[in-house]
Amino acid sequence: MLKNKEISLERFRNIGIIAHIDAGKTTTTEQILFHTGRTHRIGSVDDGNTVTDWMEQERERGITIVSAAVTAFWKDYHINIIDTPGHIDFTAEVQRSLRVLDGGIVVFDAVKGVEPQSETVWRQANKYSVPRICFVNKMDRVGASFDRALGSIRERLGANPIAVQVPIGAEDKFEGVVDLFEMKAFVWEEGDEDAKAIDAEIPAEIKNYALETRETMVEAIAELDDDLTVKYLEGEEITIEELKSSLRQAIISDKATAVYCGSSIRNRGIQPLLDAVLEFLPSPLEVPAITGIFPKDDSEITRNPDPEEPMSALVFKVVADPYVGRLSYFRVYSGKIKVGTSVYNPKTRKKERIGRMVRMYADERVDIEEIGAGDIGAVLGLKNTFTGDTLCSEGKPIILETITFPDPVLSIAVEPKTTSDQDKMALALKKLAEEDPTFQVRSDQETGQTLISGMGELHLEILIDRMMREFNVHANIGTPRVSYRETISKNVEKFVFRYVKQTGGRGQFAHVVFDLEKSAYGAGITFENSIRGGSIPKEFIPSIKKGVMNAAEAGTISGYPLIDIKVILTDGSYHEVDSSKMSFQLAGSMAFRDAVKLGAPTIMEPIMKVEIEVPEENLGDVVGQVNGRRGEILGMEIRPGKAQAINANVPLAEMFGYATELRSVSHGRGSFSMEFDHYSVVPEKIRETFS
Ligand code: GDP
Repeated sequence: MLKNKEISLERFRNIGIIAHIDAGKTTTTEQILFHTGRTHRIGSVDDGNTVTDWMEQERERGITIVSAAVTAFWKDYHINIIDTPGHIDFTAEVQRSLRVLDGGIVVFDAVKGVEPQSETVWRQANKYSVPRICFVNKMDRVGASFDRALGSIRERLGANPIAVQVPIGAEDKFEGVVDLFEMKAFVWEEGDEDAKAIDAEIPAEIKNYALETRETMVEAIAELDDDLTVKYLEGEEITIEELKSSLRQAIISDKATAVYCGSSIRNRGIQPLLDAVLEFLPSPLEVPAITGIFPKDDSEITRNPDPEEPMSALVFKVVADPYVGRLSYFRVYSGKIKVGTSVYNPKTRKKERIGRMVRMYADERVDIEEIGAGDIGAVLGLKNTFTGDTLCSEGKPIILETITFPDPVLSIAVEPKTTSDQDKMALALKKLAEEDPTFQVRSDQETGQTLISGMGELHLEILIDRMMREFNVHANIGTPRVSYRETISKNVEKFVFRYVKQTGGRGQFAHVVFDLEKSAYGAGITFENSIRGGSIPKEFIPSIKKGVMNAAEAGTISGYPLIDIKVILTDGSYHEVDSSKMSFQLAGSMAFRDAVKLGAPTIMEPIMKVEIEVPEENLGDVVGQVNGRRGEILGMEIRPGKAQAINANVPLAEMFGYATELRSVSHGRGSFSMEFDHYSVVPEKIRETFS
């Protein structure tokens, strides 16, 4: 086995395999691991014995939820594969993994081409400027079309896809691919598990197709580079090296993407895809250096992928591993992490000891002493470090850009069945919430019930499943509820509040005056002290703020959290003897609650951005469904194959059971995706149903 140390950083690749659910990400990953020689047998999703999907419910559902990182070797290159989930409910997981990888293989289904959720992941990859190559998978399926998939990548993703291969045949006649750089055909033999590519003549019937597509490729690559454009226009020969180097630069700077094809399940097209990872995706040295914040003065600092620089690393995933316990996956951006040393977490301001580190391979985990800049590993047993945290050297602290997660929009009540389940449940929920920042646990102040919240129905379903299975908790589960918010609809000026208690002995006194202002959406609750002079001593101000923040957790209408209000403390007074931090905190809470009542409080609901794709003939029905669900149609687009895409904003409260309704109206041919977009005030009629 090759050792990490022997490989220089130019030969490292940190990649993700990104795909819409069902496009074949798991199968492709399996085949890659097979070819890179670390798996002894090929796992199959259909039988549920794959390597990356090791959690039970993932096996059952056949979807990848947890981002694990697996190391593989190909032609003396060290490839870390960071698993990215494909389901929309796990958007935060996708973002989290995109944050740490340097490049991606995006897998498409050759029959369906770009699907609504592929667009979402593509947009996210754009956001993090992840260089990409595309793999049009399932070329063996009935209805597969490489050119149509290519067209949909161009039109629907607005990308600049350059085909660098053409398929030899399609559907059950799919035999292999032609490499358009070398104009060489690769054909895979039938039936052999470890299929070997045979270099072959380009079959006569596709020769012209290959030549034409090559011409298109050369033109498209020439356009990316001024020198090549001149050569091309003057009819000079452009060498393969020139083509590849220019395409590589364009992919790394996110200006183009190379498109490959194959059939993972038949083990065809995988080796060229792996070669493409080496040829076209960047090493850690070729991506911009990471920037972060110096915690003492918030100034920006940069760290290079150099083992000699001070250590910095980002924890991108924490999992409760059934065998070894808490495992924190991290990427080292600079310096190195060594077993037996301590690292500093600038968020908690605590040091943590690195007792044991492991590297995950397809079929085993191996202890490792040191992990250096540009590499990925996992550390066992860190207690106070969570997803998104930075680890660094104490003397040279840095906070790497943290990942922002969307607010959970759906909640559900969970109730332990017996008293013995009670403790187990609390522990299970705590552990699950530590792994996943978009999963929150709180208890309802009025009913005392435990409420868990997450990003969607499937997200919560899977977490409940894990709680029951992995932690053996028996619980009754309520029905999902929308997480509403409350806010004010008009400003309140000079609200005066006095908290005075005189009950013999030492009394309590606090007097505050504040304004409430509506803030822009997304601002949350902010607090500003604009008192000039000392009408309230400085030491009491944080207590007032704390009181306000506590009160903001539950609104005055239905107890939903308050958002988007600015509290400006303008005046007040204190008493030498009777005033205390406690009295100002109480005054802050009570004053805020009363002031909100004067601000015409109202309820806000989560609005989802929904994209529905259906055959043309169902368009009318779907528009009707969207309107019936208080949706607002934002636009429509024609999609290949006589399909229509409808973009709409629809309140989450109206989306329950939509999958079933869409299935029935489109006879199973429609699909939809949704993600949280914003909060918006509920209409008057619905507002009345809240008490
Ligand atoms: P994921 O959800 O993206 O991880 O996709 P999977 O790898 O689980 O594949 C989804 C389904 O497509 C499974 O039933 C696979 O057997 C099937 N599949 C994957 N690759 C291919 C392929 O190349 N051809 C065909 N016909 N089916 C495939």
